[in-house]
Amino acid sequence: MMSHRIYNFSAGPAILPEAVLEEAAQGVREINGSGMSLLEVSHRGKDYEAIHADAEQRLLRVLGLSADDYVPLFLQGGASGQFAQLPLNFLSAGQHAEYIIGGDWGAKALKEGKNLGDVREIASSKADKYAYIPKQFTVSPDARYVHITTNNTIEGTEYFDLPNVGDVPLVADCSSDFTAIQRDNSKFAMIYAGAQKNAGPAGVTIVAARKSFLDTARTDIPAIWAYKTHRDANSLYNTPPTFAIYVVGLVLKWIEAEGGQAVIEKRNKEKAAILYNALDELSSFYEPAVTAKEDRSLMNVTWRLRNADLEAEFLAEAKAAKLDGLKGHRSVGGFRASIYNAFPVAGVQTLADLLRDFAQRKG
Ligand code: PLP
Repeated sequence: MMSHRIYNFSAGPAILPEAVLEEAAQGVREINGSGMSLLEVSHRGKDYEAIHADAEQRLLRVLGLSADDYVPLFLQGGASGQFAQLPLNFLSAGQHAEYIIGGDWGAKALKEGKNLGDVREIASSKADKYAYIPKQFTVSPDARYVHITTNNTIEGTEYFDLPNVGDVPLVADCSSDFTAIQRDNSKFAMIYAGAQKNAGPAGVTIVAARKSFLDTARTDIPAIWAYKTHRDANSLYNTPPTFAIYVVGLVLKWIEAEGGQAVIEKRNKEKAAILYNALDELSSFYEPAVTAKEDRSLMNVTWRLRNADLEAEFLAEAKAAKLDGLKGHRSVGGFRASIYNAFPVAGVQTLADLLRDFAQRKG
C-alpha cells in the first residue's frame, strides 16, 4: 500500500486501485507524449478520442454486452440525473413505468419519476426499514419499463437474482455494485451508474442501453437530455468530463488485467464474508442492519452497536487503526463499511479484527 494511505471505507467517492491512481497521475502530467496534460487536451483531438473510444469498448466488454446490441454512453448529472432523464425519455402521455423500491435511492428515483410522468411503485420494503429486497410484485405487461436499484448503498442490500419482469424492459441503477458481481447484463434494457463508487471519479455517469430500447426514446425533449442525442454523437455532443472518462477507462482496464468480473466477484464475496462472519459471531454485541441474509450486499456492509453509546468510541478506535469512512449514512446511523472492488482484503481483515477485539473488551 502507498505509505500515506488509509483504509478508506467511504461510500463514494471511494477507494480506487492504486495502479489506476498512478497511471492517472501520469496522464495528468502528460498524455501520450503530447506535451500537454490530459486536462488540457481538446475533446475533439486524437489523443482524447482514442481514450474515449477505448473506454466505450472496454465498458461493453467488461459488462459482457455486444456492441451489436448495446450502446455505451458517458453522461453527466450523476445517477440522480438519470432519475429524471429516464422517465423524461421513455414516458409519453398514456404510458407508465413501474418501480421496485428496496432503499432510499430507489425512493428518490420514484419521486423524481412522479414529477415527470405516470410512475408507480409496485413493491417496497420501506415499512421494514428496507431490510430486504422486495420480491413480491406484479408487473403490468404494458409498463414502459420496470426500475430497480441493484445495490442499496445506504441500507446494504443487493440483488443476486434479477426480478422476472417478463417482456417489460428492465432498467437498473447499478451505481454501487457496477462490475462488482457477474450478472447477465443482457437482461437489462438499460443500466446506469454514477462512476464515483466502483468505476472511477465523480463527474461521469455511465450508461449501457439496449439499442432497440433506445430506439423508442423520445426526441421531442431538450437535446441535451435526449439519450438519442448522445447516442448519435458517441457521447461527444457537448464537452464530456474527459478526465473522469479517462479514469473510468483505466479502472476497466484494471478489471480486465485482474482477470475480469469473475475474479472481482470472487474477491468481493470473500471480503464481505470476513465482515459478515465477524458480525454474526458477535451478534449479541453487534446487530447487522439487514435481516435477510440472502440479500446482504457485498459492497456496503451495515450494522449497529447494540449499545449505541459506544458508537463514538468505536469510530475513534477505527480511526486510530487507519480505518476511515465507517459512519453509517446520516439517514440511518450506525456503521457502514463500503468495500468496493478496489478495497484490499487486508483492510477488511483489520476491521474484522477490530470488531472482535472491541466486542471482547466492551461486551
Ligand atoms: N443511486 C445510488 C444507488 C447511489 O448509491 C447514489 C449515491 O450514493 C446515487 C444514486 C446518487 O448518485 P449521484 O450522486 O451520482 O447522483
